[in-house]
Amino acid sequence: MGAAAVAGTGLVLAPSTALGRFGNITPIVGSDSDMPALLGGPKAHPGSFPSWPFYDGSEEQALIDAIKSGRWGRLDGNLTAQFEAEYAQMMGMKHSLAVANGTTALYTMMGAIGVGPGDEVIIPVYTFVATYNVVVLNYALPILVDTDIETFQIDPQKMEQAITPATKVLIPVHMGGLPANLDQIMAIAQKRNLPVIEDACQAPGSEWKGKKVGSYGIGGAFSFQSTKNLNSGEGGAIITDNKDFIDTCYRFHNQGQGNRGMSYSPGQGGTRATNGRITEFQANILRAQMARLIAQDKRRSRNIAYLNNLFKDIPGITPAKLYDGVTNVSYHLYMFRYDKAHFAGMTRDRFIRALGAEGVATWAGYGRLNKEPYVTGLAKNKHYLKFYGEKTMKEWLERNHCPQNDKLTSEESLWFGQTMFLGSTRDMDQIAEAVRKIQKNASQLKN
Ligand SMILES: *Cc1c(COP(=O)(O)O)cnc(C)c1O
Repeated sequence: MGAAAVAGTGLVLAPSTALGRFGNITPIVGSDSDMPALLGGPKAHPGSFPSWPFYDGSEEQALIDAIKSGRWGRLDGNLTAQFEAEYAQMMGMKHSLAVANGTTALYTMMGAIGVGPGDEVIIPVYTFVATYNVVVLNYALPILVDTDIETFQIDPQKMEQAITPATKVLIPVHMGGLPANLDQIMAIAQKRNLPVIEDACQAPGSEWKGKKVGSYGIGGAFSFQSTKNLNSGEGGAIITDNKDFIDTCYRFHNQGQGNRGMSYSPGQGGTRATNGRITEFQANILRAQMARLIAQDKRRSRNIAYLNNLFKDIPGITPAKLYDGVTNVSYHLYMFRYDKAHFAGMTRDRFIRALGAEGVATWAGYGRLNKEPYVTGLAKNKHYLKFYGEKTMKEWLERNHCPQNDKLTSEESLWFGQTMFLGSTRDMDQIAEAVRKIQKNASQLKN
């Protein structure tokens, strides 16, 4: 008996009696499949991950229904109101307001609270720039708080230290869909009698102690932008149990008008407003997409639990930890830390390239927002200088010092996108295999 060819693979198998089952396969497959793709070996993940978004006839029908209704805005149609009722129910809340996007959700709530010049607003440094932008749009001072390196979330202790008599509102973010430490944040807020707006834009369905994130503060903001877990291209929502608050938000996002129809009725309260309305097309697409959300979340969580288990055996790869209060995660990002000491000193950039070559896309994600010229430039903004003065703005730059975030984002932090986890366990095995292969060959790969 000689060696047997395996159809279609080009591999040659040894007879199982001679050297054990895979005895002399090692020199053939081994040398080849152990070679990093960046050095010419085969990809550990040769296939592709699911593409985003998922849709079928139900989204098509949703759009057709909206078109054929002939009522395309929320003021004349009723699809938005239907979505709001369904979304509130899913969130376990009394009220929901759909808006144009997540930024508008945040901006609307800040308008309802009355944030303005002279106010300080506390936000994490590790967030999407929108959280920062809504503060600056109100000519308030954004105070950027350092990161808890293990969880990638805002550090509650440092959040408390950042509070001053000028603090108007706290805006924690549930980064990557992973809940921030809501017990500590809500305790701090109650002690200081400060409102909390939760930026849950990345976390539709994540839970803290059995209750949805976004339901702990006075209001929670969600984004339905095309990369987000619930997607209508653009879109957003506010949730709350507070009737006065949702009514104020409605007026703010509707030119100061509280009525749900098209007629103009002045004098309903408030002196500032905008148009932040969503369309009926978006609302109806969301209703179709919402039917997929829970099953998708479950699939992501299952795959992530599986991958976490594989990563346990790979030193130098540390997934973001969850706080004790977390009872469900709607994963938007898989955030993890890379320790080059376990990869022969290979830089994070090189690791990203090597992993990409294996067919596994990863990226560094958010960086040092407090040090970006876009942000530091605020200290030279003429309106800020005029209102706050040069000294305050200089001190502001100092206050935004975030050493832990510097360390995390300059060489450790990495992300996988949520769509990778809509794949199979085989995909997870191949991700882990790619990392193992890179680790094994790190000294060869690192230059
Ligand atoms: C996406 C996002 C926003 C803004 O949402 P848009 O719908 O893009 O305006 C705000 N905050 C965070 C954390 C986000 O991820």
